[in-house]
Amino acid sequence: MKFHKPQTLPECLCLLGKLKDPWLLAGGTDINVQIRHQLNVKEDVVFINHLPELNFIKKEENSLIIGATATIKDISGSELIKKECPFLADSLADFASPLISNLATIAGNIANSSPTADTVPLLLVLEAALVLSSCRGHRTIALKDFYTSYKHNVRQTDEMITSIIIPLLPPDSYTAHYVKIGSRRALTIAKAALALLKRQDEFRIAAGSLSEYPKRLKNVEEYLQNSKKIVKKHLFAALDEDVYPISDFRSEAAYRLQVTRNYLLKFTR
Ligand SMILES: Cc1cc2nc3c(=O)[nH]c(=O)nc-3n(C[C@H](O)[C@H](O)[C@H](O)COP(=O)(O)OP(=O)(O)OC[C@H]3O[C@@H](n4cnc5c(N)ncnc54)[C@H](O)[C@@H]3O)c2cc1C
Repeated sequence: MKFHKPQTLPECLCLLGKLKDPWLLAGGTDINVQIRHQLNVKEDVVFINHLPELNFIKKEENSLIIGATATIKDISGSELIKKECPFLADSLADFASPLISNLATIAGNIANSSPTADTVPLLLVLEAALVLSSCRGHRTIALKDFYTSYKHNVRQTDEMITSIIIPLLPPDSYTAHYVKIGSRRALTIAKAALALLKRQDEFRIAAGSLSEYPKRLKNVEEYLQNSKKIVKKHLFAALDEDVYPISDFRSEAAYRLQVTRNYLLKFTR
């Protein structure tokens, strides 16, 4: 393996344009697991964690902007996020162990493209966007359009996520929940996860760990928005249209679907 340590963001972007699909080493909490198991190990590794241009959390007009290398702990502990978007800070409070959440970055969580990524269902209901940068320039895309299939996304190999933009809603204008079901309460990776945001008559719901990648449940949202009384059979039929549950070493598809159904009912009745 060959390691690279650019000194500035422009230098880093220029380097990405020259290398062939390198790893971007931020917290390393996913990359190190892949190295240990010799899974798709890449030849080039670019350190990005030391770049000051990527490490910030700020408010600009009506949006929160989170730099790529802000860690999960930075986010859950941020006074700005606790004030402007308490749902995000609270939902990430029990992400993994303190050791991991102090290292794990938000962009690493998104870019790794795992169906179990905890930040993604939260960011989907908050309708976040990603800024992708390369030496060719910058583009902003909605997070909902980022993933294409299991572990795949639209990022080009010379691009990196530089920041995440979250449009702010007044915290008292909505209620939101995040539930994550795993094998145990502490230090658990989700077998199923559900983020729900309700604002007046609008429902925003996203499921993690259920399909190939976390996604909004558009049919469920539409059903809830248009129904005065929730009929279990119809709600579940809408869910079936939204998801293709997966089985893997963590759980079976049938279990994931049943747990998601139970929580949908619990939160929407
Ligand atoms: C013990 C343990 C517990 C865990 N628990 C959880 C959990 O509870 N919930 C959860 O969601 N995850 C969990 N994870 C997974 C992991 O910690 C997270 O996915 C983490 O956020 C990854 O971020 P990182 O900075 O460590 O990424 P890295 O390992 O540095 O990188 C991961 C991937 O993202 C790419 N990447 C990194 N930064 C960028 C960028 N700016 N732009 C484009 N691509 C980039 C890298 O090239 C690599 O492919 C756990 C992992 C471990 C080892």
